[in-house]
Amino acid sequence: MPETFVKSERLRQLPPYLFAEIDKKKKAAIAAGRDVINLGVGDPDRPTPEPIVRSLQQHVENPSFHQYALDQGSPELRRSIASFFSRRYGVDLDPETEILPTIGSKEALAHFPLAVINPGDVGLVPDPRYPVYRSAVQFAGGEPYIMSLEPGLGFRPDLDAVPADVWKRARLMFLNYPNNPTAGSADLPFFEKVVSLAREHNFVVAQDAAYSEVYFDDPPPSILQVPGAKDVAVEFHSLSKTFNMTGWRVGFAVGGAPLVSALGQVKANSDSGIFTAVQMAAVTALDQYETITPPIRALYKERRDVLVSGLKRLGWDVPTPAATFYVWIPCPAGYDSTTTCSKLLDEANLVTTPGLGFGDAGNGFFRMALTVDSPRLEEAVARISKLSF
Ligand code: PMP
Repeated sequence: MPETFVKSERLRQLPPYLFAEIDKKKKAAIAAGRDVINLGVGDPDRPTPEPIVRSLQQHVENPSFHQYALDQGSPELRRSIASFFSRRYGVDLDPETEILPTIGSKEALAHFPLAVINPGDVGLVPDPRYPVYRSAVQFAGGEPYIMSLEPGLGFRPDLDAVPADVWKRARLMFLNYPNNPTAGSADLPFFEKVVSLAREHNFVVAQDAAYSEVYFDDPPPSILQVPGAKDVAVEFHSLSKTFNMTGWRVGFAVGGAPLVSALGQVKANSDSGIFTAVQMAAVTALDQYETITPPIRALYKERRDVLVSGLKRLGWDVPTPAATFYVWIPCPAGYDSTTTCSKLLDEANLVTTPGLGFGDAGNGFFRMALTVDSPRLEEAVARISKLSF
């Protein structure tokens, strides 16, 4: 044991935690008893729907579920995921080989690069992004290549701008649609292009679909709807946002058998599956998807309209998100994301998230989450109306 502990090189490679300053201010404001409206958190405020809670209560009584779960997930859950996927996307999946339940999607996204890249390989990651993709590539010894998401392309990357030598070394590309934090969406032609590039350049696509069921117009597509996509893509789904279940830790990865099994091999060496009673509750959720999720979407839509129309009335240039529970707003002239969010907190007691925390390309934007109820969103708009930017 060294006298002075020194963190591993892989931890020291991680970018600094950019929310530290704003977190400190937020805590101080709350401690001082100020009436803070927290629009910073990406965590549903509503409880998990009744039928799912009842299902857990019932299954937790079963002693056979108190033992280790199966690494590959319970057969009931895998069958239920296959049925959901076929109803929702028209895609057939083999429950034995093409579906892997995961402990939420975060751990699966974090583990996946270990299954597909070797040290020195390039992993393409979007910017702005959910921070896990980049650190996961780095943890696996990969070299991140940053693809900025272009506002002019609906927050998709300009795939034609990736240099040939990057394609040559690329083994993995992370995508996330519907997108956090930009609320951008992908359509099938975009996914078709990605799949054809993956075939041409021999890389694997990890498409994070955590927000796939939080949408307000047409249901967003799955990358697996592209013919042949299973050979090159894995899609990561989550029950967290779809069913207000962030604390439960249940999601799933779907794709071709060799890719799903490679992820399973990494996980078999690092975790021991999901509590089986939680898996049974997930079966209840997915089986009742058609009745449980419309009211959840309707609530976010109502909140979205309150916030977006309120800010527009004040003259803010706010795009109306078609999916996710985030509103991604360009900073006012003369401000970057940190100064905008500091001002909102200092002068209006509003917690928002600076775009810089998601990558350099996010610095001209900040994010508001629709995870508080409409009257509080109206109050947030009223407070902003009194500020001068
Ligand atoms: N992907 C994205 C884009 C997210 O925003 C989140 C959570 N905020 C996750 C994945 C992880 O969600 P979970 O692990 O709860 O499935």
